Amino acid sequence: MNYTEFINKYATHPVYQAPTGNQLHAKSWQTEAPLRMLLNNLDGNVAENPDELVVYGGTGQAARNPEALLQIIKCLLELDEYHSLLIQSGKAVGIVRTHPESPRVFIANSNLVPVWATWDHFEKLKSNGLMMYGQMTAGSWIYIGSQGILQGTYQTFVACRMKYFKGDLKHKLIVSGGLGGMGGAQPLAATMAGATFLGVDIDPERIIKRLHSGYIDYIYYSYEEAKEVVLKAKEQGDAISVGLVADIGDTLERLLTDGIIPDIVTDQTSAHDPLHGYVPNGITLEEAYAMRIAEHGMYKALAIKSMARHVGFMLEMKRHGSIVFDYGNNLREMAKQGGEKNAFDINGFIPEFIRPLFCDGKGPFRWVALSGDPEDIRITDNALIEAFPDSTDMINWLVKAEQKVKFQGLPARICWLGMGEREKAGVLFNNLVKSGRVKAPIVIGRDHLDCGSVASPNRETEKMMDGSDAVSDWPLLNLMANTGGGATWVSFHHGGGVGMGFSQHAGMVVVADGTERAETCIRRVLYNDPAMGIFRHNDAGYIKAQDNMSTFNLSFK
Ligand code: NAD
Repeated sequence: MNYTEFINKYATHPVYQAPTGNQLHAKSWQTEAPLRMLLNNLDGNVAENPDELVVYGGTGQAARNPEALLQIIKCLLELDEYHSLLIQSGKAVGIVRTHPESPRVFIANSNLVPVWATWDHFEKLKSNGLMMYGQMTAGSWIYIGSQGILQGTYQTFVACRMKYFKGDLKHKLIVSGGLGGMGGAQPLAATMAGATFLGVDIDPERIIKRLHSGYIDYIYYSYEEAKEVVLKAKEQGDAISVGLVADIGDTLERLLTDGIIPDIVTDQTSAHDPLHGYVPNGITLEEAYAMRIAEHGMYKALAIKSMARHVGFMLEMKRHGSIVFDYGNNLREMAKQGGEKNAFDINGFIPEFIRPLFCDGKGPFRWVALSGDPEDIRITDNALIEAFPDSTDMINWLVKAEQKVKFQGLPARICWLGMGEREKAGVLFNNLVKSGRVKAPIVIGRDHLDCGSVASPNRETEKMMDGSDAVSDWPLLNLMANTGGGATWVSFHHGGGVGMGFSQHAGMVVVADGTERAETCIRRVLYNDPAMGIFRHNDAGYIKAQDNMSTFNLSFK
């Protein structure tokens, strides 16, 4: 198939689709894999808005514009194993001489010199065609749809269940805002954890998308109807999920007026981006779209004021006994800027629930079957269950995921794994490819939200024991360790999750193509990557991480 035929078949804007099967289009699986994953990110079943090349998380893009995307595809089709492609904020800018064990693609997205690292400066560059927002896995081509955050959200609700609800969420109600690309995982995670869930989104299309992907059970346009259904379900102990089309601030206000205090309150609107992410209270969605273009300043002012109001209601819920936590969208920061001075009285989900996992080098490990055949994921799930017979939590998760998760785009799986486990899983997958038990190579990656790859003081590194929250040497070291280790593609981004000025983070993907070279790279990368989490938390003084330094023989002094 020549370049034109390839584009006609897989990449006619805005209809994108990854090739499947075991025939190469590029020169090797090391370049076929990023090519397929880039197109998969933009598949209409995966991306939130392929028209704008937006994958998820507000305006997180996979490529800067359709022309830049075509250029990247052309380069990936032609790249050999002695060269690597450079991507600067979603555009190919050069090819450098490297070697077969080097990453094939180096990606840098949305990075700005600290004093210039603001949304205003970014927007200027973006409107001049010089930048795009890469979010985390959008611009680094390893987004797998809402499943990508499903287990993290499930783990968070389960940790909350253990900490505050004696291990049981039956007869408990969770209320949250935002049912977009990532927020859309909340209803399924909540019901998997045994709770009743009410999710509120201003955009009906977003809820309808979750209905189609099987992540939510019902949609309602009326507050009264939604309220009646969730209260009945809560009383009966039914783990069901309801999406209500409304403004989240208004809904929390009405719940308070009606004396309904949910057991858990959180939020996943795209609060990190006050211009394109959060819809201000009191205006329709259509008015919001128009105002975003015509009146930037007024839109932003209204958005942060609405977030202050929204957080004010969350704080009131907290005073009435709800367990309230920030779920990684920088809502507290925006609310503070909008005038809610007590916003940070709400705890962040990482210090509350996730940091102990980071101390074990654990994080959102994921993999994708390039064959496109769901059976390949079933084979990897079973291989893991067999290889880790004592890991009850992992087995429970994989069994639940097999039953409940509908795939979006290429079949994929998320499973939080830690030090030692990731390397073992990676080698196992490479052997499945080598022996022909799966039909094509497996892509192995993770979210940037991981144990040792992020500096984000309002999220992953909030309230570090030694006060090193804002030190971003760590994600840079992570990038270097994975580049040196031989990942297939690596990335370094700014602003993911929480917006411009608030985070820096690194991504990595390594491809199991069944070769010895892949096994060597997998062993290095999947050792280095979780080890970075242990190094980071050991250095900050966490005893669990210090113990892991000896458990995993990581001590170096
Ligand atoms: P998205 O942009 O796809 O979805 C955001 C949703 O919020 C949209 O559906 C939008 O209609 C809705 N919304 C906006 N204003 C609203 C309002 N006033 N009332 C009700 N609904 C409103 O984003 P996403 O991918 O779902 O990510 C959501 C947020 O979570 C982002 O800030 C992202 O950076 C963050 N995030 C968190 C994690 C984590 O692990 N906790 C991971 C990834 C992303």
